Amino acid sequence: MTTTLAPPATIAFIGLGMMGRPMAKRLIEAGFTLRVFDVSQKAVSDFVGAHPSALATASAKAAAQGAAALITMLPDGKIVRQAVLEGQDPAIEGLEAGAVVMDMSSSNPVDTQKLARDLAARGVALLDAPVSGGVKRAIDGSLSIMVGGAAADLERTRPVFGAMGKTITLCGPAGAGHALKALNNYLSAAGLVAMCEALVVGEAFGLDPGTMVDVFNTSTGKSNATEVKGRQFVVPRNFAAGFTTALMAKDLRTAGDVARHLKLKMPHLEQAVSYWTAADGKLGKGADHTEIFRYAEMLAEEKA
Ligand code: NAD
Repeated sequence: MTTTLAPPATIAFIGLGMMGRPMAKRLIEAGFTLRVFDVSQKAVSDFVGAHPSALATASAKAAAQGAAALITMLPDGKIVRQAVLEGQDPAIEGLEAGAVVMDMSSSNPVDTQKLARDLAARGVALLDAPVSGGVKRAIDGSLSIMVGGAAADLERTRPVFGAMGKTITLCGPAGAGHALKALNNYLSAAGLVAMCEALVVGEAFGLDPGTMVDVFNTSTGKSNATEVKGRQFVVPRNFAAGFTTALMAKDLRTAGDVARHLKLKMPHLEQAVSYWTAADGKLGKGADHTEIFRYAEMLAEEKA
């Protein structure tokens, strides 16, 4: 019989970036004991400086030692595989049999299915548990968490997820959470580009962008983009949503990979993959995904 992971259970947390930091903070505030690691030593020292109860470690293996669960919040699934299984001092060398790995990154679901099999062979369970809601909802602990894996593993880790998210949905077996996340971000990206193109056209016609967003929000054009990105990040041009164009482009490529893996022809999705990959190259390293508005403006300049 497995025990439920309630506070003060020890959790290893790998990846203290834009999302990892506030998520790890929520776990500490809930009473969990944290062992943290990031390849950026500054990320680790800043985190431990702000949260002295967390233990800084020098590798994924060291973070994993004595932990009942290990959370990864890393850029992509290839990096997760390195950190957990194949890189230098990987977590698997520190984890005990019976531990559970919770990959909360937005990883490729086909890679996740393989990782789940490889970890199971070592006596370690995997839950894919990507999140939606961005930095704001990571801070207030109201993320939407999409879980793939065994129901029993979700039940034993529910208090851990509960400290970070409000909606926790079991989507299916290993990889199901990652597949749903990539498809969710396809919708999110499509809505954002549609809003940005509408704003560029509307402005050229003489419409006020703020008024346009307000009207979308009381009309059928309403979407996550118009509600939480228009007035907040695009119209004032601060582009400070905290999620990069590079990560969104990766999510689009993941969604495209899933469709191709299943031999499904999806022309609009393929166009979105090309659009975001090109935008990522053009906007430069670190560009926020809401800067896709600047990319829409650049393309508009080329004239139809
Ligand atoms: P980020 O780039 O801010 O953070 C990633 C962190 O991982 C960095 O601190 C980096 O130093 C660390 N890292 C990289 N390689 C490592 C390794 N091998 N070992 C240990 N640490 C390593 O990214 P983020 O915005 O926090 O996103 C993390 C994940 O969450 C991504 O998969 C992203 O797609 C997803 N996501 C992000 C958001 C958002 O709004 N930012 C929302 C939902 C999901």
